[in-house]
Amino acid sequence: MERKVRSHPTQNESLLFEISSPGKKGYQLPDLDVPPLDMAAALGESNVRREIEGFPEVSEVEVIRHFTRLSTWNYAIDLGVYPLGSCTMKYNPRVNELVARLDGLAWAHPYQPESLSQGAMEVMAHLERALLEITGMDAVTLQPAAGAHGELTGILLVRALLEKRGNPRRRIIIPDSAHGTNPATAAIAGYQVQNLRSNELGGIDLEGLARAVDEDVAAMMVTNPNTLGVFENDIAKAAGILHAKGALMYMDGANMNALVGIARPGDFGIDVMHLNLHKTFSTPHGGGGPGGGPVAVKAPLEALLPLPRLKRIGDEWAWDYDRPESIGRVRAFYGNFGVLVRALAYTLAHGGNGLRNATVDAVLNAVYLRKKLEAHYELPYSSPNMHEVVFSDDRQAKHGVRTGDIAKRLIDYGFHPYTVSFPLIVHGALMIEPTETESKQELDLLADALIAIAAEVESDPEMVKSAPHSTRTSRVDEVTAARRPKVRF
Ligand SMILES: *Cc1c(COP(=O)(O)O)cnc(C)c1O
Repeated sequence: MERKVRSHPTQNESLLFEISSPGKKGYQLPDLDVPPLDMAAALGESNVRREIEGFPEVSEVEVIRHFTRLSTWNYAIDLGVYPLGSCTMKYNPRVNELVARLDGLAWAHPYQPESLSQGAMEVMAHLERALLEITGMDAVTLQPAAGAHGELTGILLVRALLEKRGNPRRRIIIPDSAHGTNPATAAIAGYQVQNLRSNELGGIDLEGLARAVDEDVAAMMVTNPNTLGVFENDIAKAAGILHAKGALMYMDGANMNALVGIARPGDFGIDVMHLNLHKTFSTPHGGGGPGGGPVAVKAPLEALLPLPRLKRIGDEWAWDYDRPESIGRVRAFYGNFGVLVRALAYTLAHGGNGLRNATVDAVLNAVYLRKKLEAHYELPYSSPNMHEVVFSDDRQAKHGVRTGDIAKRLIDYGFHPYTVSFPLIVHGALMIEPTETESKQELDLLADALIAIAAEVESDPEMVKSAPHSTRTSRVDEVTAARRPKVRF
């Protein structure tokens, strides 16, 4: 079969400023049949907009075509695989959107009285029950708006529990493979970060942990499977080491797509964890939200959860604000409700076995990619991977080509890049997470592109280093673009 490579639509697009010509307008109106009004007199001088200097003068169809063409340059999960590791960029089933747009849910207002909010409250209660079943925990808050916000909520809960027990303690242990939000969370919650070096398999070093834990350690924050995509086989033992010294085990649940329906954190010693609804439970993400970061806890932390909490009075739902030990609100109202609706729709549309299948397929897809690519890219940790796989650019670096160059070349093949240079314990990391939603054909296209690039690195490294070649702009100064964006022509 001929190998199909997606090509970009032409990106030879002018700026609106460049096609502007004096006097062109987006509309043409008949002459007024009433006397013209003096705007400044009617509205007040300060309320009337002055002419904007240099504002482009273009027709309506020029504007529409310009923005429609720009929109086709956008890479999206609806266009093809989005292999960003750690991000779980899975396809978002349309049924979620359908349910989230139901009038009664979409137009629900948080100030509606409880008597008119029973359906919305039942959605939240139902989602809570589903998440408790999936995680094996005892109670959950749906308030946090994303993963990092869930982490902060979780560590504030840890602090509150330890304070209640007499001493909030001072340190939080975080492995060197952790996501950057983990140490940021610990610091914002007022803790010192103690780095724990991973063992040679990339996992928790139990002996190192035992040496590090004392009565001043509040908790350990661990991602499982970790950011190498490897399951922490010793997680229960690690939790035991912490518990023996009165410390807690926090799990960053961003990688729950590898566990749902298979293993429950509540069964392997986790005290508190967050979920990323926009990752595992398929809310569209990227571009800054909205997201959902529910935090699930074991019973000793339940009284501390953010308020209000749902409670049942007779056969009605009510909000309970009478929770004296609560850490307080972490978000206006009840969290990002639309995201909660999507997560419940996703969960119910799959059912228990369907969720389990999704997990198995996510792992199968990542293992398939590993098998196809390991002859071409260096695999620094050989432990069996789960839902994602991390290569390094060691072989390509010998030709002066780094992970960022390979990622840029992937754009020429019509794919969104993988995650570049994370986790930090792998020098020159290529982190790939296909998710369960990709077909074998799509995975083969991605693998073929990466294999072709590995060959190009041998034959023509300079070409790879100057990629992408198919886009309007090739290499941008990413730092200056972020720090000092120039948005005017
Ligand atoms: C995505 C991610 C986070 C942060 O979650 P946000 O929802 O982006 O705030 C934390 N840890 C890991 C491992 C992640 O992949």
